Amino acid sequence: MKQFNLLINGNSISTTEHFDIINPANKSVVAQSPKANIEHLNDAVAAANAAFPKWSALTYQQRRDLLIKIADIIESNGDELMQLLTKEQGKPLKGFANLGSGFEFGGTLAWIRATASMELAPEVIQDNETARIELHRKPLGVIGSITPWNYPLLISIWHIIPALLTGNTVVLKPSEMTPLTVLRFGELIKDILPAGVLNIVSGDGSIGASMSSHQDIQKIVFTGSTATGKAIMKSASVNLKRLTLELGGNDAAIVLEDADIKAITPKIFATAFINNGQTCAALKRLYVHESVHDELCTALTSMAGNMKTGNGLVEDTDFGPLQNKKQFEIVNSLAEDARKNGANFLCGGEVIDDSGYFYPITLVNNIKDGTRLVDEEQFGPILPIIKFSNIEDAINSANRLSFGLGGSVWSTDIEKAQQIASRLECGTVWINNHAMIQPDAPFGGVKASGFGVEFGLDGLKEFTSIQTVQISKS
Ligand code: NDP
Repeated sequence: MKQFNLLINGNSISTTEHFDIINPANKSVVAQSPKANIEHLNDAVAAANAAFPKWSALTYQQRRDLLIKIADIIESNGDELMQLLTKEQGKPLKGFANLGSGFEFGGTLAWIRATASMELAPEVIQDNETARIELHRKPLGVIGSITPWNYPLLISIWHIIPALLTGNTVVLKPSEMTPLTVLRFGELIKDILPAGVLNIVSGDGSIGASMSSHQDIQKIVFTGSTATGKAIMKSASVNLKRLTLELGGNDAAIVLEDADIKAITPKIFATAFINNGQTCAALKRLYVHESVHDELCTALTSMAGNMKTGNGLVEDTDFGPLQNKKQFEIVNSLAEDARKNGANFLCGGEVIDDSGYFYPITLVNNIKDGTRLVDEEQFGPILPIIKFSNIEDAINSANRLSFGLGGSVWSTDIEKAQQIASRLECGTVWINNHAMIQPDAPFGGVKASGFGVEFGLDGLKEFTSIQTVQISKS
């Protein structure tokens, strides 16, 4: 079995304690992860602090060149990384609509290269006979990155590349469910970056908690649950840490009576079940006008009938298992609760193979707001479909929960769809699509889905503070 190590100050560090990483497709042990303790974390933070002055003094171009080298080296190790990702996360190598490990890996490369090409140039606010006023953006120092288990590699890249590009150094803690791909990534790139610029410490939630309260970390960028986001915010006050919190969502989609059902069905299906529903911005509640409700239900059920759930290493698998036992139990309990409350299961809803955490693609209608499956984030392959007759009711339903990550409106009347979209309380709104993101368009939540944005120039700004320079001329 391959050994994995922490990355601290440019060195591979072994630990005395370890924990098992479970393959959710068969519950076997993939490998053991090193378990960092508080001394490891302190060493990593100290190394990142020591590396900061030199790293932040480099030009954008010098840092960009190294980040592009990272993309190149991991591209040439793609097969190994994708295999590892499938084994620890469960997603198929290829999967339905090519949205498996290959998608996460391709996204990783695209995000590194696109983000590395950006730059925050100084802005001139005023330049006249009285004064020249410039706005400069300075790196913050050591960034703590805490990542989840749904897209372990891609989300780590979303955190670390903008942080590094803008001149910060990083300590990254991957989820204890899926640290292996990220640890291997660290091993592959360790000789590219100067020692201490990027450090990776795998461990349990207590390491994340110690990062949020660490005096020498200047900012936490976090993707995960709202509950953990709140805990981080509380402890981050010790040194007034800055935060970007990318938390859960329960995105509503509203399908209007004039939607082209044939055209939108594949997109609704793909964006609800992307990564088995384990995606923060997946479509999680589907509100459909009564005039097209039955047609859309039939079309989605027909698509679901063609899907194969199984081990992601097997070539023709569309969907893998849920990533972990806890998530599997959440999905099961939401389904049971819906059943008890009289919901109708159009397909799925029964666990057939319990050799892994497999849950079939499940569509549920005859269900109302207030049912747990509608109100709670399912983070799994089970979609509630709610019929509406009045658009005002649908808008109120979409906005009634505390979450505010994304939302969508589906219609052939773009102007009308835009008017409705503007009333949705969420960070991103899509028309005739959902869950689409790209490296140059800011993405983030409102309300209980967090604050701050990732991606694009606005995403880079999150890793900087403003220094205003006033040059007096009179
Ligand atoms: P968590 O929020 O618990 O975990 C996310 C990350 O935070 C992990 O690295 C975790 O470490 C770490 N962490 C745990 N406790 C603390 C703490 N007190 N302080 C700082 N960091 C901490 O998410 P879960 O993995 O438990 O998933 C639970 C739910 O979160 C899901 O059901 C889903 O609703 C949502 N979620 C949302 C995601 C998104 O993309 N927005 C992604 C994943 C989950 P460790 O793993 O070691 O405990």
